[in-house]
Amino acid sequence: MVEVGVTTALARRVAQLAGCEVKPGAPLAPLISVRVGGAAEALVRPRSPDALVALLKLARDEGVPVAILGGGANTLVGDGGVAGVTVKLPGDMFAEQVELGADEGRVTLGAGAAIVKLVNLMRGNGLVGAEFLAGIPGTLGGAVAMNAGTKNGEAFRVIEAVEVATADGVGWLTKAQVPHAYRHSELPAGGVVTRVRFLLPKGDVAASKVVMDADLGYRKRTQPLSQPNFGSVFTNPPGDHAGRLIEKVGLKGHTLGRAQISTLHANWIVNLGGATARDVLGLVTLMQTRVREETGVDMKPEVKRMGAFLP
Ligand SMILES: Cc1cc2nc3c(=O)[nH]c(=O)nc-3n(C[C@H](O)[C@H](O)[C@H](O)COP(=O)(O)OP(=O)(O)OC[C@H]3O[C@@H](n4cnc5c(N)ncnc54)[C@H](O)[C@@H]3O)c2cc1C
Repeated sequence: MVEVGVTTALARRVAQLAGCEVKPGAPLAPLISVRVGGAAEALVRPRSPDALVALLKLARDEGVPVAILGGGANTLVGDGGVAGVTVKLPGDMFAEQVELGADEGRVTLGAGAAIVKLVNLMRGNGLVGAEFLAGIPGTLGGAVAMNAGTKNGEAFRVIEAVEVATADGVGWLTKAQVPHAYRHSELPAGGVVTRVRFLLPKGDVAASKVVMDADLGYRKRTQPLSQPNFGSVFTNPPGDHAGRLIEKVGLKGHTLGRAQISTLHANWIVNLGGATARDVLGLVTLMQTRVREETGVDMKPEVKRMGAFLP
């Protein structure tokens, strides 16, 4: 169990690394969108790629676990907190770069930057093609790791290359070098995405805005955006919808502690205020078990768990 505010020997060692801002015993609930869970033993914000590599090297050499947190929009932190190092990249580690050609543009951004930053640069530079990312919260690093998207597209459709840091250094990988699938990408083991380059065509920005506005309107009507949540709990099984299955087995609106299966969308869990990770995980397990027992479908969680979950 990681204790809030307590400085450990690990946090002291990390604090000695140049360019790393360390918060020992930092509560993580404020950093994840569902607002539950414990503290990080050492929450570290490296200020440069070199500082990040030094941090990953220290962790590898000393056998310290490393967790990576982006915007926390798809993460469930356990109530026991996260032992070891939790890395959070600053949004401004890199200046944004836009290179415009005759028909297309390349936009390069730091992985700690918010997805909305890409959307704004797309619009501002006469580019189109990433409309489906407009309503997705979180960072670009998280969008790469999750291959975030909607039925209208996924991040890797518009990614040209990603820069990844490991304990051995930093290097670029082309899209073809990063295997990816629905809500999944295979980054090098222990790799932290540091920058992302998008390739977007020039196009009709007004029409692109109409598409994005329609998507945001649809989200407002169908998703419980005013309550803390982490988006979809499960990926959609092939040919079906997780929400439909959960509703079918009668769990829509079901409450455990202070967590609830949303009354608006059954594949979402909301924090009613004061929920614990235990409440949320209890609902995840109930949804998965009940759907498996009653329909035979084995739903795969989309949300990523981080840290220790207490019984
Ligand atoms: C209201 C709401 C709506 C949503 N709608 C959608 C949607 O339509 N489509 C969709 O796909 N998702 C959706 N999500 C989920 C979430 O927004 C996406 O998964 C997003 O890509 C997560 O980004 P993040 O930075 O918050 O990632 P986090 O939650 O911080 O992390 C998610 C995973 O990515 C890893 N990761 C994060 N940054 C890095 C990095 N730099 N390098 C390596 N690994 C990293 C983490 O370790 C973790 O495994 C929604 C969430 C919410 C709250």
